[in-house]
Amino acid sequence: MEPEIDWDNVGFGIKKTDYMFVMKCSNGDEFKQEGGELKPFANIELNPAAGVLNYGQGLLEGMKAYRREDGKIVLFRPDQNALRMKDGADRMCMPCPSVAQFVDAVKQTALANQRWIPPPGKGSLYLRPLLLGTGPILGLTQAPEYTFLIYTTPAGNYLKDGVNSQFNLYIEDEYDRASLGGTGGIKSITNYGPVLRPLTKARSGGFTDVLYLDSATRKYVEEVSTCNIFIVKDNIISTPPTKGTVLPGITRKSIIEIARDQGYTVEERQIEVEELFEADEAFCTGTAVIVVPVGSITYQGKRIQYQTDTNSVCNKLFSTYVAIINGETEDRKGWITEIN
Ligand SMILES: *Cc1c(COP(=O)(O)O)cnc(C)c1O
Repeated sequence: MEPEIDWDNVGFGIKKTDYMFVMKCSNGDEFKQEGGELKPFANIELNPAAGVLNYGQGLLEGMKAYRREDGKIVLFRPDQNALRMKDGADRMCMPCPSVAQFVDAVKQTALANQRWIPPPGKGSLYLRPLLLGTGPILGLTQAPEYTFLIYTTPAGNYLKDGVNSQFNLYIEDEYDRASLGGTGGIKSITNYGPVLRPLTKARSGGFTDVLYLDSATRKYVEEVSTCNIFIVKDNIISTPPTKGTVLPGITRKSIIEIARDQGYTVEERQIEVEELFEADEAFCTGTAVIVVPVGSITYQGKRIQYQTDTNSVCNKLFSTYVAIINGETEDRKGWITEIN
């Protein structure tokens, strides 16, 4: 039965869908395919001493299932999310589903909830895989049991009136997001609670999000709370390298490839704060926003405004990405996984 939803105003809030996927594994063991199952979406029960509740042993992922005009349901590079979870699990000392198990679970979860996938062009079904230390533990060590869980919620487009809305960023010079040797390069749940303070501060100042600098020198640009950043100067595209303190975004990586295919030079290099004030354009990438133009950046009272018209580099890259998802541009790289 079709849900009664105003697909034009889906927004980004959590909506309860039908099923979630759950697979468990003991510490020192491996996840087994037959151990995973779809269950009706519901609260989960945890021991109060669960490792994830007490010591933050947990990872998250974020991906989307889209419905195309021809009825096909597609995922974008789900293997990349699986690989990133493996890297994170290694850092956080957790067992992790294999790439095949991860992708299969994502497919099953998307299909089980397919009535919640918005019509073509109206958004997507957001999928949130979690890997959590759910076994009880008091001494600081690995939890004895792990849960791989995927839940979903429909998400609207980040578009307003057909054009991607823009970000007004605030450069934070009091709080850091990530440190060298820390967990900024993996999608650890422990990375997100600490950004609420700077994010709240930025939002109360009328900004959309925070742009963080490197914690060692506060001279170089790193990324935004949940997206990566790019600048464009004289048609050369630059983005900070992902060397531990920047989350290796799958959108980031894909946009770099798309831009190079279109003939742009893309440099992964350190970007000094001052360069922002000389750039022609800036944009952010991430699964939630895909590619969103930066309208302005504010740093120590200085504000730079960027062009955000339809001829922008950002807009060209965004259009190509969306065309690949929609099947209007040939998927020459095998990025699209059809699941029905
Ligand atoms: C998830 C995330 C991104 C974007 O990654 P995608 O794979 O493109 O969605 C960027 N930065 C941070 C901090 C993130 O958590």
